Amino acid sequence: MSKLSFDIVDGIAVLRLDNPPVNSLGHELRRALVEGLERANSDPGIQALVLIGSAAAFSGGADIREFGTPKAAAEPDLRHVIREIENSAKPVVAAIGGVCMGGGLELALACHYRAGVPGARIALPEVKLGLLPGAGGTQRLPRLIGVEAALDMIVSGATMASEKFRGTPLFDAFGDGDLLQSALGLARRVIAEGSVLRRVRDLRVDVPNARAFFQSARERVKAAAGPYPAPPACVEAVAAAVEMPFDAGLARERELFDALMRSPESAALRHVFQAERAASRIQGVPNDAPTRPIHKIGVIGAGTMGGGITMSFINAGLPVVLLETRQEALDRGLANIRRNYQGALRKGALDEAGLERRLALITPTLDYALLGNVDLVVEAVFESMDVKRQVFETLDSVLRQGAILASNTSYLNLDEIANFTHRPQDVVGMHFFSPANVMRLLEVVRGAGTGTDVLATVMRLAKTLGKIAVVSGVCDGFIGNRMLARYGSAAHDMLMAGALPHQVDAALEGFGMAMGPFRVGDLAGLDIGWARRKRMAAEFPDRDFSNVADDLCKAGRLGQKTGAGWYRYEPGSRQPIPDPEVTAIIEAYRRQRGITPRNVSAEEIVERCIYALVNEGARIIEDGIAQRASDIDLVYLNGYGFPAHRGGPMFFADQAGLRDVERALERIAAQPGSDKAFWTPAPLLSRLARQGQTFSGFTGGR
Ligand code: NAD
Repeated sequence: MSKLSFDIVDGIAVLRLDNPPVNSLGHELRRALVEGLERANSDPGIQALVLIGSAAAFSGGADIREFGTPKAAAEPDLRHVIREIENSAKPVVAAIGGVCMGGGLELALACHYRAGVPGARIALPEVKLGLLPGAGGTQRLPRLIGVEAALDMIVSGATMASEKFRGTPLFDAFGDGDLLQSALGLARRVIAEGSVLRRVRDLRVDVPNARAFFQSARERVKAAAGPYPAPPACVEAVAAAVEMPFDAGLARERELFDALMRSPESAALRHVFQAERAASRIQGVPNDAPTRPIHKIGVIGAGTMGGGITMSFINAGLPVVLLETRQEALDRGLANIRRNYQGALRKGALDEAGLERRLALITPTLDYALLGNVDLVVEAVFESMDVKRQVFETLDSVLRQGAILASNTSYLNLDEIANFTHRPQDVVGMHFFSPANVMRLLEVVRGAGTGTDVLATVMRLAKTLGKIAVVSGVCDGFIGNRMLARYGSAAHDMLMAGALPHQVDAALEGFGMAMGPFRVGDLAGLDIGWARRKRMAAEFPDRDFSNVADDLCKAGRLGQKTGAGWYRYEPGSRQPIPDPEVTAIIEAYRRQRGITPRNVSAEEIVERCIYALVNEGARIIEDGIAQRASDIDLVYLNGYGFPAHRGGPMFFADQAGLRDVERALERIAAQPGSDKAFWTPAPLLSRLARQGQTFSGFTGGR
C-alpha cells in the first residue's frame, strides 16, 4: 500500500503523506514522495503541488524503526527528497498541521511556500538524541525566523506552537480554517502571480555583530552542555549559515552531523530512546492485552514512600485513600505531603489552587473499610515480612474482587507476599524510588502468579504517572538494588585496598554518577544498611556481612541526619567534609583484618565499581530477572544517577568492548582477597564476548 496519495484539484497536485501514526519519513514514503514529485512535474496539466499530512501530523521526522538499519540511509535519503522538492520546476506548498518535527520540518523548509494552522507543533529535536538537524534545518530555519530564534530552537530542541510564527516568513498563509483549502488558496495565488519559486536557500540571513553574537553563544551553550558535544555543534552549524554561502553551509552541517553520529554520547542517547520504547514490551503479554480500569487508589503507610507515592497519584488526578495504623502517623504523613507541595509553591511550580485541588483528592483514614471500592492498593509499610503479611491478609479480606494489590517492598520476596492472599494473580510489585513523586523509575515486579492483565494495567498506570516502568522478576533486591549491593561492595573493596570515601566518590562522580556511593549513603542514612546486615547475619550465620560502616554506626555516625557519617557536616549544611575520624575508623578496620593499604587510582575505582554492576547485570539477564540489557540500563539511568551520556552500565560495557570487560573482570578475580565467585565473568558476558556480540544486540537464547 502506498504511503502517499496523489490527487489533482484544479490543476494542483495534492500529495498526502499517509504513514500513520506520525508520517515518519521511512524509506517507502521517501520513495513515494520522489515519485509523486516526478509525476506532478511531468504532467502538463499540473501547475503546483501541495504537500499535506494528516490532522495529527504533517510529519514527525525520521522513522525510529529504521535507526541503525540500512533503510535509514537507503536512497532516496531525506536530503535527496529535499533537493527534489527545492529543485521542483513547479511551486511546492507545505500544509503544516499537527506535528511538524525534525526531518518533517526540514522537508517543509525546503518547500517554496508554507501554510499553517494554529495548534501545530514545530521543533527540531535532534539535539535530544545528541545530533543536529542534518538535512538543511540549521541552514534554512535561520533564514525564515531569524538567527537568534532559530539557534534557540535548534540548541534546545524545544517544541514551539505554530502560533508563535504567525506573521514570520515561516508561514506564507496562516489561519483557523481548513488547512488544505488554505494551502490550495496559497497555491492558486502563487500560480496567479506567475509561479515564482521562492527558495529559502536564496534568502538573506544575518545577525547584528555576528562575531560577538556567536562568540557569546558558544560560551553560553558550551557551559550548559556538560559532556554533550551536540549543543555546541548546533551553534557551529548555525554560524555556518551566516558565515558561508548556502552550499558550503550545508556541507558544514553535514560534516558536523556525521561527527555527532559517530560520538558515543549520541549513541548513548539514541540507545536510551530505543530502550524506553522497548521496556513496555513484556514477554508473554501482548501489546493489546486487556487492562483493568483504575480510577481510585489506596496507599497503605504514610511514611517516606507512602507520602511520595500518594503525591504521584494525586498529581495525575487520581484520588487516594491513605491508610495508617495511628492517627499521629497519618497526621505526620499528611503534613509532610503539604510541606512538599509548599516547596513547589515557593518555587512557582504550583499555585495555591493546584495545591488544594491535589490535597482534596486524599482521603486519610485508619479504617480498612474505606478501601472497599478502590481499584488498586500500593502497600508501603515497614520492610518486614510479618507486617506485610498482616497487611496483605487484611487487604485480601476487604478489597473487592479484581482490585490490584501492589507492594513497594525493596527486597522481600513478592511471591511469598502474594501467597498471603487468595488472589496471587492480582498481586504485583510497584517498586517506587525515593522521592517517589520525583523519581521517574518504577520497577514493576512480576511474581510467579501475577496476571498478564495486571502487568499490562500497571505498565499503563505508570505512563499515566509519567514514570518509566521496567519489569523485573523476583529476586533479592530486584534489578536495581541487587546490582547496587555489588556496587556498594566494590566501593567497600576500594576502601579496604587503600582509598578514602571522598576519593571513591570523586572518582565515580568524575565518571558522571550523580553522587558517589558514600555521599548517597550519608543522605539515605547508614542505619538502613546496618539493620539489614544485622538481619542477614542472623539469617545466614555462616556468612560475613561485616562492613566498616557498622563501626561508623556504632560511633553514632548515621549520616547527614546525625551531622556525621562517611563525612562530617556543618550544622544546616549538606556539604560533605572529609573527616580524619573516619580515616581513623577505616584504618583500624583494615588493621584488624591485616590489610596493608596501597595506592588506588581513580581508574581502578571506576573500573571495579562499574564492572561490578555489569557483571551482576549479566547474571540478572541470565536468570531471567530482566528481559533485556536495555531495561537494566533504564533502571540505572532513572533510579541510580547513572550518567545519561554513557547510556547505562550495560551499554557502557558494550562500548568498552565485552572482551575488554571480561579481561578486566578476570584480572580482578585473580587478585588476592577478591570474591572469586562474584568477579569471575558471568557466563553470558563471556559467551557474548567470545561471539563478538553486545548486550544490546542480545535478544535471548543460548
Ligand atoms: P517509613 O518507615 O518511612 O514508613 C512506613 C510507614 O508505614 C510508617 O508511617 C508506619 O506508621 C506505617 N505502617 C507500619 N505498619 C503499618 C500497617 N500495618 N498499616 C499501615 N501503616 C503501617 O518507611 P519507607 O521508607 O516509606 O518504606 C516503606 C516501604 O517502601 C518499605 O517496604 C521499604 O522497603 C520500601 N521502599 C523504601 C524506599 C526508601 O528509599 N525509603 C525506597 C523504595 C522502597
